[in-house]
Amino acid sequence: MTIASPLFDCHTHCSCSFDCQETFDRSCEEAIQKGLGGIALTDHFESFDYFEKLKEPCLESVKTSIAAKEKYCDRLKVLVGTELGEPLEDLPATEEFLSLCEFDYVLASLHNSKGAKDFYFVEDFRTFHTDGGLRAYYEDLYETIRWNQFDSMAHISYPFRYMELRGFFDLTMDMYDEMILPSLKLLAENCKALEINTSGLRTPSRKTLPDMKYIKLFREMGGEFVTFGSDAHRAEDVGEGLAEAAEIALACGFRYQTVYENRQPTLIPLK
Ligand SMILES: [Zn+2]
Ligand SMILES: [Zn+2]
Repeated sequence: MTIASPLFDCHTHCSCSFDCQETFDRSCEEAIQKGLGGIALTDHFESFDYFEKLKEPCLESVKTSIAAKEKYCDRLKVLVGTELGEPLEDLPATEEFLSLCEFDYVLASLHNSKGAKDFYFVEDFRTFHTDGGLRAYYEDLYETIRWNQFDSMAHISYPFRYMELRGFFDLTMDMYDEMILPSLKLLAENCKALEINTSGLRTPSRKTLPDMKYIKLFREMGGEFVTFGSDAHRAEDVGEGLAEAAEIALACGFRYQTVYENRQPTLIPLK
């Protein structure tokens, strides 16, 4: 099956993110070259670091995407976005940031449970099941979805990405289904989007985050909206895996990709 409509990469980073060196110009050029319909710049806002460290780069990111929106207006749709990390951990910071900018698109994500370290930095996962580390993560996911002040929920299988990368396969996402399924249901009931994050296709697991099982369940629970995102931290990764994400979405019963502009969803048919 071939996807006919131009795909939108709704999750990319530039050097306004602490873990990225890329310029957004290079990402936009890459998106144009790959024939994408549009791109959202979603640099990292991490609520607990906002007042001390991230306010300036976060505002700079918004300025960067506003400038690119104008610069590329006749060649590429540019969307002003953010990746709102752990939004409830410092809610006043989150609320301030959201009030300062006019976003097209707000992607929420969790890289850690409250007060714990980012799974990216965790080396030893052996105690995570017994000490409740993953339960805490999926409790926070539910609370974030209940908070509901975002458009799409990013990479809900994030902890498992790092477990698999570190060769730790004792825990599986299925073991947390009793917590994850109510979250997916609430996301669907709130008419919010689930992100199909393709960064996992660039790791040995070759799986989207989350994988097909959860995307299909979200659809069965009444989910209408899916967004696609490469989570590119380098221009060459922009748009990577989106065609595969679109095929997965179709196979799970979605007929549209969702793109947010002025925080409103637009449904673009996949074929
Ligand atoms: Zn993320
Ligand atoms: Zn990201």
